[in-house]
Amino acid sequence: MRTTTGWQSRGDGSTVLERVEIGRRELRDDDIAVRVDFCGVCHSDLHRIRGALGEGVVVPGHEFTGTVTEAGPGVTGLAPGDRVAVGTVVDSCGACPMCRAGQENFCFEGPVTTYGGRDRTDGSPTLGGYSREYVLRESFAYALPGTLDPAAAAPLMCAGITMWEPLRSAGVGPGSRVAVAGLGGLGHLGVKLAAALGAEVTVLSRTPDKAGDARRLGAAELLVTTDDRRTEQARGRFDLVLDTVAAPHDLSPLLRMTAMEGTLSVLGYPLETSVRIMDLVQGRKNLSSSGTGGRRHTAELLAFCAEHGITADVETLPSARVADALDRLGRGDVRYRFVLDMSDLDEPRS
Ligand code: ZN
Repeated sequence: MRTTTGWQSRGDGSTVLERVEIGRRELRDDDIAVRVDFCGVCHSDLHRIRGALGEGVVVPGHEFTGTVTEAGPGVTGLAPGDRVAVGTVVDSCGACPMCRAGQENFCFEGPVTTYGGRDRTDGSPTLGGYSREYVLRESFAYALPGTLDPAAAAPLMCAGITMWEPLRSAGVGPGSRVAVAGLGGLGHLGVKLAAALGAEVTVLSRTPDKAGDARRLGAAELLVTTDDRRTEQARGRFDLVLDTVAAPHDLSPLLRMTAMEGTLSVLGYPLETSVRIMDLVQGRKNLSSSGTGGRRHTAELLAFCAEHGITADVETLPSARVADALDRLGRGDVRYRFVLDMSDLDEPRS
């Protein structure tokens, strides 16, 4: 066992994390060790820290970029010094239909999540990227294109891929009409990616506050969803609606704006939401969802982002300020993603 330093939740719902020494496994044949440089702060981290899913103590973090420091003898594609990005999945069975389809994120045996999961070999709990070092199989790390800023690229690995898979699945391209409901960590990347794919993008929001941001990110307009006249005009308009709203909400208005045979993809995981089947009947509409992505699509996303110069809009903080980031994220006070700079973990505890 080797050790590194990380930020661990207390298991009591507090967003004040403790700086602790954590163990990392010695490298297996196909493992790499990564110095974690930047780790994004995802809404799901906040849920887990607050104990919404009842899992107790965690070292969060599942969208990070870093630098390879060591490679096992069987590693072929990466070498010390390479910049890499790591997302929400660090292993899978590799043999089930989902894995064979390149959707390791849906592995029938359960993907090994970057934190809060269990290693397939020794059963040890996985500890996330709010730490200075991570050890994982080479095949679940992705070469980070050199043109992408490593801090701003970190959120591509969870928020970005969560937007990318439904966009690709719906075949979005030039001429597509895409709506993005909710302009946060997920939504702002949804706008950038859809616009770069050539779609006409509309942001759906309850207030006009972010109209300027929506346009700057690549949207044609922001539609205020409390304006009944405007929403009525948008009836049947969108080929794809990316719904990133996390709070329970009525899906009917969004399905009304979805085109015939179009898709509403619910991506903010509002767990208590219900759907009226008649909203699907009228126009043969599709209701879908998605969650992060498999290896093939993740590599594709990074290549696309390098080609189009896409990264997240981030506010980078020293990792010691993780509680500030979590509290502000909880209040929605972020444009549009916090990223922790882990280099302060090299310094002695202050
Ligand atoms: Zn996430």
